[in-house]
Amino acid sequence: MKFVIAVDLEGIAGVVGQPNMTLTESKDYDFACRQATKEADAAAKALFDAGAKQVIVWDNHGGSLNLEYEELDKRCDILLGVGFPHRWTSMDEDFDGVILIGYHPMDNTVDGVLAHTFSSVSYQWIKINEREVGEIAIDAAMAGEKGVPVILVASDDKGAKEAKDFLPWAETVATKIGFGRNAALSKHPDRVIDEIYEKTKRAVKRLGEMRPFAFEEPMDMEIRFKKLEGAEGMGKSDGWKRIDAYTVKGRLNKISEYY
Ligand SMILES: [Zn+2]
Repeated sequence: MKFVIAVDLEGIAGVVGQPNMTLTESKDYDFACRQATKEADAAAKALFDAGAKQVIVWDNHGGSLNLEYEELDKRCDILLGVGFPHRWTSMDEDFDGVILIGYHPMDNTVDGVLAHTFSSVSYQWIKINEREVGEIAIDAAMAGEKGVPVILVASDDKGAKEAKDFLPWAETVATKIGFGRNAALSKHPDRVIDEIYEKTKRAVKRLGEMRPFAFEEPMDMEIRFKKLEGAEGMGKSDGWKRIDAYTVKGRLNKISEYY
């Protein structure tokens, strides 16, 4: 069995960031990196204990290079850096599942901790086939193109609910309850590590119930920008049209045409 664990930072236990700055600039960043390493390691250990032969940990927040690699179980491989040809580079159809750790709710989520979709400064929302989507669904669809299911998502309570809406088969771990963009009631970080370990083991036991996720193809994609300059620029590119001052619409055959 082979797995990939994708690790973002915003949904990690005990992390809320600070107003008007990126998580990377905030006081939370160093803690987020340490705790994310532990949460990823708990998932990796559970996968190896369940019989995994390969586990790739993908360090994907911001410009990558966040985790403390030497603290991960030494059986892990580590995908790091930026500029890969595909969001799931090095994963192929032979893989059995992916785990999303530290993921966050999509743009336009009330009280979602550090909620955004790929860029907190660029978009108000992104829709695919008229449904708002975030990184959980998009990364699940990108993995789904390779036939690989998401088996567990760890995020705040809003992100865990979003995961259940798109991926009803997946196990979820709600690391904290969001009360605002920078406010949460968090579970103790050590308890989250235990929960990720247990639920990862349960997810592997339930592997037969897991499904690769796909959007219906071809798909309509709408992007609403925060600044109308964004829509103005993109509305001029091939295959995209402006539907109002802030919003563009296009059609994709596959989600990987865009991401
Ligand atoms: Zn991130």
